Amino acid sequence: MNAHLVNLVYLLASILFILGIKGLTKPKTAVRGNFLSAMGMLLAVLVTLYHSSVVNFSYIAAGVAIGTVVGSVIALRIQMTSMPEMVALLNGFGGAASLSIALAEYFARLNLDITSFSDLTAQISTDMGAFGEGVEGHVAILSIGLTVLIGALTLTGSIVAFTKLSEIMQNDYSLPGGPIGNGIMLAASLVALTILIIEPGNTSAMITLICLALVMGVFLVAPIGGADMPVVIALLNSYSGIAAALAGFILGNTVLIVAGSLVGTSGLILTNIMCIAMNRSLANVLFGKMAEGGESIDADEIYAGKVTSAQADEVAMILETASRVVIVPGYGMAMAQAQHAVRELADAMEARGTVVEYGIHPVAGRMPGHMNVLLAEAEVPYDNLVEMDRINPTFDDTDVAIIIGANDVVNPMARDEEGSPIYGMPILNVDYAKTVVVIKRSLSPGFAGLPNPLFALDNTLMVFGDGKKAVIDMTTALTQA
Ligand code: NDP
Repeated sequence: MNAHLVNLVYLLASILFILGIKGLTKPKTAVRGNFLSAMGMLLAVLVTLYHSSVVNFSYIAAGVAIGTVVGSVIALRIQMTSMPEMVALLNGFGGAASLSIALAEYFARLNLDITSFSDLTAQISTDMGAFGEGVEGHVAILSIGLTVLIGALTLTGSIVAFTKLSEIMQNDYSLPGGPIGNGIMLAASLVALTILIIEPGNTSAMITLICLALVMGVFLVAPIGGADMPVVIALLNSYSGIAAALAGFILGNTVLIVAGSLVGTSGLILTNIMCIAMNRSLANVLFGKMAEGGESIDADEIYAGKVTSAQADEVAMILETASRVVIVPGYGMAMAQAQHAVRELADAMEARGTVVEYGIHPVAGRMPGHMNVLLAEAEVPYDNLVEMDRINPTFDDTDVAIIIGANDVVNPMARDEEGSPIYGMPILNVDYAKTVVVIKRSLSPGFAGLPNPLFALDNTLMVFGDGKKAVIDMTTALTQA
């Protein structure tokens, strides 16, 4: 196939990827966006297979068959609440694929016939010839080295993220020396990379680079707390894209460069959005803990004698006369798996003529879009999910704000108390509603570990109990009214 035609098809595939990502920015167009991206990928794969000098189709067919079976089984079995784990693993596979491409290309260019480990560690040559003359050769080996570094790091980092999210690894482990230890390993990797650029045939340097990158991936993610894992996954997603883009440079494949760059940049943008929404810097997520100072805030002082609790039927009586209600879901709704019950409560209120909307905070839950995914699963109409900036001005005109399993994202301390560790984090101003109903099991803090003055306000009613049961009880009381 003519090279120009191939590049034209690659360009078309790239346009489909971009349109696909644009579609994925809105729930209404997300399915179409997904379809367009998938078509782009199909086009790119078909043209590559047709154009490239594929030596043996049977290996490719076997890979596609195994991948399809394993992928389908995982996708069908995975629970909605386990999506972050699945995304973590998929990032790791992306890193592994780029790593494999880089190593295959490296050994192919050296024309190595590896039959034993000593073949691998032998000094092969200092000649750049196998990688191309002059700058081209240096760029080729640099691309290979960087792909190995980022691909290997993404692979092990993602596996650690997976084990943390699935609670297989429950403690945080850091390298002796913490970030300094990681810094030393990074410096050693860069030394190995430099040796490779000067002396591409130095397979010992390549093996050192692989080992350092694999270990670095582990110790980059292992110290980070489980609740911060979603930010890390967005970052690893970005790394897997960068590794793919670099692999594109190795193969001279433009569509891989474009697709990898899209994944790399969108992962970085997502990481940034989450950091802003949590009012934390990326360095703080990667190398620090939540801001200090929370321990000095006395929860008893905030709550003592000021918390009003209520039963589900008392809340139902208030809901009977409410004309506008905003439901604010949080991590606890996911834990209680209460999304279907919440939707039924909203249906019961709407049947009585109440306007019901959902206030969605960008970092509610434990992964980006967590609440949107759960509520979509319960078939809540997309139009009823209202983002923070749009819902906030409406709380003054809201009769009841029902907070289900949310805590930090509705903590007025973030808005009002300058010294507080979460000061500056944008919140949903639910306390401006006439009545606030908070459903949770106790007065325990949320992810930030801080008490919440909202629970002690005069217009707040606390309904203590499991989120799902409390909501079902409210619906029953309301429908029987
Ligand atoms: P929080 O973690 O602040 O609070 C969740 C609350 O849910 C807890 O206070 C808990 O209280 C309650 N809860 C737990 N289980 C149940 C249950 N079965 N029934 C009822 N309630 C329950 O959640 P938010 O969603 O408000 O905030 C998210 C936090 O996570 C923010 O601090 C954010 O920065 C952080 N974060 C979010 C990420 C994201 O991508 N979304 C990524 C990383 C961090 P109790 O035990 O009393 O029931």
